[in-house]
Amino acid sequence: MSRNAAEMTAGIAPGPGPGRIAPGRHRWHRLLALLLGAAVFVVDTYTDVTGAIAVLYVLVMLIASAAFSRRGLILLTLACAGLAVLSFFLSHGDGADVSAVVRCGIALAAIGITTVLLLRDQASKQSLVAANTALARSETRYRSIFEQVRVALWEQDFSEVRAMLARLRQQGVRDVAAYAREHPAFARDCARRIRTMHVNDATAELLRLSSPSEALGPIERFLLAGDPALPAVLAAVAEGSSRFEGRAKLLAADGQVLTVLLRISFPDEADEFGRVVVGMMDVTEREQLQQTQLAAQAELARASRAATVGALSASIAHEINQPLGAVVMNAQTCLRWLGKDPPDVEAAVRAAERTVRDGRRAAEIVQRTRGQLVRDQRNDEAIDLRALIEETIPLLETELSAHAATVVTRLAPSVPPVRADRVALQQVLINLMTNGLHAMAETGAAGRELTVSVDGPAAPDAPEVRVSIRDRGTGIPDELQARLFEPFFTTKRGGMGMGLAICRSTIETYGGRLTARTHEQGGAVFEFALPADQDTAQAS
Ligand code: ADP
Repeated sequence: MSRNAAEMTAGIAPGPGPGRIAPGRHRWHRLLALLLGAAVFVVDTYTDVTGAIAVLYVLVMLIASAAFSRRGLILLTLACAGLAVLSFFLSHGDGADVSAVVRCGIALAAIGITTVLLLRDQASKQSLVAANTALARSETRYRSIFEQVRVALWEQDFSEVRAMLARLRQQGVRDVAAYAREHPAFARDCARRIRTMHVNDATAELLRLSSPSEALGPIERFLLAGDPALPAVLAAVAEGSSRFEGRAKLLAADGQVLTVLLRISFPDEADEFGRVVVGMMDVTEREQLQQTQLAAQAELARASRAATVGALSASIAHEINQPLGAVVMNAQTCLRWLGKDPPDVEAAVRAAERTVRDGRRAAEIVQRTRGQLVRDQRNDEAIDLRALIEETIPLLETELSAHAATVVTRLAPSVPPVRADRVALQQVLINLMTNGLHAMAETGAAGRELTVSVDGPAAPDAPEVRVSIRDRGTGIPDELQARLFEPFFTTKRGGMGMGLAICRSTIETYGGRLTARTHEQGGAVFEFALPADQDTAQAS
């Protein structure tokens, strides 16, 4: 609704409206019309005045028109016309001359034309009243929505700014937003010229004002200097956009900086820019929450990077522990052989060779872990798992004898190779066998035996190699099943809880899977399956 319409509506709403006259005045009009009608009739009938006196009935109708309805006006017309004709017959009888007839005719025509004009005028006044009433209702509806809605609504006068921006464009400035950014004084001037005419209670609440009237006037004091929203709004006005949507920073009365979502609907007509409705929604808390979430995510990422580094060092420590233990053990053995009298050089050389072998393995482990960290190339090769197991068992001889345990192997005669990193797979085997030894140590039972089996594909459509390591230990309690492979999960005093996590991730790296269960006859069974290396299998 335009401001003009609103003003017009404000003028008519409480009163009788244009074209309407208060009932008291109707009576006077009617009386005056009656007296004037009677006077015209007397003069026309009983005096010698020869002019077209009956034409004066037009005055009667003009005076009475405001006091009569449409039907009343028609009846009044008929009455005036009747009096004019009656007067004609009373004053002329049968001997009327032509001029008297013409005068009577002119009077009747004047009365008729006046009636038509008055009826038309009445009809247009009535439709104007109806339109204004509708306008008033619509304004009332709009006002009540404006006041009651929980969204902050502002009515702002953009007319001055619109004119300023039009002049700016005439001067050749195309990118108004950039211009406003580069000329802060101009932007400030614009902000001073955008005036708030009306706001609802929600706006007062948003701006922490005690009453909506405190928000009226230039919007400048609520804007945050340098906020990109104002240049964007100015550009929208300059480009004749029908609406603007965006985010803005506002300064509340208590000094708090608010983030609001902004929606402005611009009118089509230039003269309606005096009443532009601006809607705002406070999203400060939502934004703060998002920022807190982002900060938490960043913190989490940092923590998880730290945890990865921690896990990696734990992994190196875990993996390297076993070969280092073997190095120390073999070196001590070597010293013992050399310390004998006479020294057993041959045995000492064998022990020294084992020391070198274990030392090399430790170096390889470090190298592989570093490779994982920097994701460099893996040394994948075709591996016969049966051969790898045969090679690995001697590496555990120190632990085996310390635990008084033996290893039994059950190796299928024909097994396809798998493609993997040799050191990594060897570590998996060592980890699983060492865990088996530990589990059997806990039971303290005699007959400690590890059974390591290698089987070929279970079915032709599942070309994989299966390895199982069975011990005669405690088995795996149901409640621990799910947690076994979690990093840092351990039930051992001094345990690190990394062994199984590393084993599973290694096996999965090569497309396999590692599972654990308790054997029907006691003890745990750890099984892993790796896809057969098809290329090598076919070539051989
Ligand atoms: P750690 O050996 O340092 O505890 P692991 O990841 O190798 O770490 O093992 C995690 C846990 O899984 C062990 O603490 C143990 O409770 C359980 N576990 C591993 N292997 C066996 C097994 N062969 N028999 C029974 N429990 C086992």
